[in-house]
Amino acid sequence: MRSGMSEAAIRVENVTKIYEGTTKALDAVNLTVPRGTIFGLLGPNGAGKSTLINILAGLVNKTAGSASIWGFDIDRDPRNAKASIGIVNQEITFDPFFTPAETLDIQAGLYGVARKKKRTAELLKAVRLEDKADAYARTLSGGMKRRLMVAKAMVHAPPVLVLDEPTAGVDIDLRRQLWDYVRELHAGGVTVVLTTHYLEEAEELCDRIAIINHGKLIADKPTRELVDMAQEKAVVVTVENDIATPPDTAAFEKVEQLDARTLSITYRKDKVNAGEVLTALGEAGHNIIDVSTKEADLEDVFLNLTRTAA
Ligand code: ADP
Ligand code: MG
Repeated sequence: MRSGMSEAAIRVENVTKIYEGTTKALDAVNLTVPRGTIFGLLGPNGAGKSTLINILAGLVNKTAGSASIWGFDIDRDPRNAKASIGIVNQEITFDPFFTPAETLDIQAGLYGVARKKKRTAELLKAVRLEDKADAYARTLSGGMKRRLMVAKAMVHAPPVLVLDEPTAGVDIDLRRQLWDYVRELHAGGVTVVLTTHYLEEAEELCDRIAIINHGKLIADKPTRELVDMAQEKAVVVTVENDIATPPDTAAFEKVEQLDARTLSITYRKDKVNAGEVLTALGEAGHNIIDVSTKEADLEDVFLNLTRTAA
């Protein structure tokens, strides 16, 4: 396939989606998924994750904007775009009367994968379903079905694999197995995108995480930075006397002087609590007359929410 190696795995530019004139599911989203990453798209239910994935899959028409996969524009070059991506949808969908081997053969046929390149046996082995090759799909456990769907998405050996909430309703053991396989694919050169509403899950697997909320992209950072940011909290403190030099103690992450008697102090929730921050300020010789917690921004609120939900 032609396409410059410098191209992103996925590029989304100003994509907006309005369903039936009412809900704005996506609002001018810009997103670049670099090649070779495991990329997390994090957001609460209803944020717009599946809408974005379904647009890339060609299942939902966007209202505005453009998108490309592996350098292929989804509107101008839909065939190559489609061939470059494998998608595991949120809902488990396949015919219960076909066996896993048949399911993969049919999928290969749909994608025009040549007979000699058919990878049915190899894929079944990869998702540990070789023993179930000839069982009816309806007799598979939920976890086995999920793995079969991953195999199905990889039939045409796409360079990009997207998993939409792959662990919804999946137990811990299976989650591990699924992640092992995702890591294997990634090690083999596949760019992986997964959506989830759990920060922990994204944190464990992803190199980079973007956060979407109410159809808007509100963060897009390397995982480490994002997780660090989620630990920071700020208090605004007014003291009795003018401050000559802002105090600096180990309890503070960052101190900013807002006016003669007001400080904004950033601290890390994982290291100290607000009480300890105020005590440290008192010990530095300042009489506190007013304290307010800074209005947490959307990112903080969302990150706190997702952390407790996990
Ligand atoms: P997520 O996958 O992050 O949970 P979705 O993309 O499924 O979010 O949904 C985003 C918003 O779009 C929600 O408000 C949802 O109700 C709405 N929505 C999703 N699909 C449709 C649809 N087919 N018709 C109308 N509204 C939809
Ligand atoms: Mg969804």
